[in-house]
Amino acid sequence: MAEWLRPRHMNEALRLLAELPADHHQIISGGTDVMVAQQLRAPRDIAVWLDLSAIPELKMVEVTAEGIRIGAGVTLSVLRRHPEVQKHWPMLAASAAVTGAAPIQNRATLGGNLCNASPAADNAPVLLAYGARLEIAGPNGTRFLPYDQFHLGYRQTALAAHELLQAIHVPYLPGGSRAYYRKVGTRAAQAIAKVGIAAWIHFDAGQGIIAARFGLASVAATPCLLPRVSHYLEGNNLKHVCEFTIREKVSSDIKPVDDIRSTAEYRLEVASRLVWEAIHDAH
Ligand SMILES: Cc1cc2nc3c(=O)[nH]c(=O)nc-3n(C[C@H](O)[C@H](O)[C@H](O)COP(=O)(O)OP(=O)(O)OC[C@H]3O[C@@H](n4cnc5c(N)ncnc54)[C@H](O)[C@@H]3O)c2cc1C
Repeated sequence: MAEWLRPRHMNEALRLLAELPADHHQIISGGTDVMVAQQLRAPRDIAVWLDLSAIPELKMVEVTAEGIRIGAGVTLSVLRRHPEVQKHWPMLAASAAVTGAAPIQNRATLGGNLCNASPAADNAPVLLAYGARLEIAGPNGTRFLPYDQFHLGYRQTALAAHELLQAIHVPYLPGGSRAYYRKVGTRAAQAIAKVGIAAWIHFDAGQGIIAARFGLASVAATPCLLPRVSHYLEGNNLKHVCEFTIREKVSSDIKPVDDIRSTAEYRLEVASRLVWEAIHDAH
């Protein structure tokens, strides 16, 4: 019979984690990914469960002068309804609202969505686009990591063995920026993304593009940014932006694959069109 540990504080969780058997424990937050993996996908021999759901520090949402700090254990239901999130980070409210359906959102946490490290995670492209930073707690203290350095490969993250994700920091966008979020799936609800996009673009008073950032899901082994697209757009003018060049840049930024949900060709086509739509919609 596996042991179930439910620490009440972050320090207690870190102390327990440091003592656990290396390959026979499982961290669990909302459990909506790990329970499916354990029951259906890839059952493992788990001796100890480390349940993070009773740690108040992980449930906090704080608005600061720089942005918002969201505890890793905040559920997607809380996020989608949070008035500050809706006002200043609407893409995050939107992505939380399309991650599974209400019963999943009531348990699923933002930290779990990132640490599960699926390339299709709905909130990942949003946090990439916003330029989020992760607060990671470990036995030697806390470190901060830009979120775009977190995903090292397919389902691999930069978390070390005895570390936990504590919070996600999301900065305000530059004033006047316009955001765009869209998830393309088989259905409008309860579908894993074939392509997900989050973008924001900062125009000058006319059609000049000052800054542009795009996060994508389901188009590579990890959620990813589009650095070549951003480089092409920044300093350019909307009237000189060419759809063909956008497609070229997108195809050099992403590495889509064929899988049960879609084909690489479809994903490239849709990603290119969504980038084009995002730019024009934002203007
Ligand atoms: C029916 C159904 C529909 C779904 N639909 C979607 C969807 O549309 N879009 C989507 O993106 N996902 C979807 N999911 C997947 C899942 O619900 C989300 O990824 C969810 O956000 C996971 O959060 P959780 O708290 O349940 O994670 P858990 O299952 O508890 O954990 C996931 C992973 O993260 C690790 N982890 C969790 N918290 C921490 C932490 N603080 N520090 C370190 N590691 C941690 C765990 O060890 C585990 O490896 C769906 C799942 C189901 C069952």
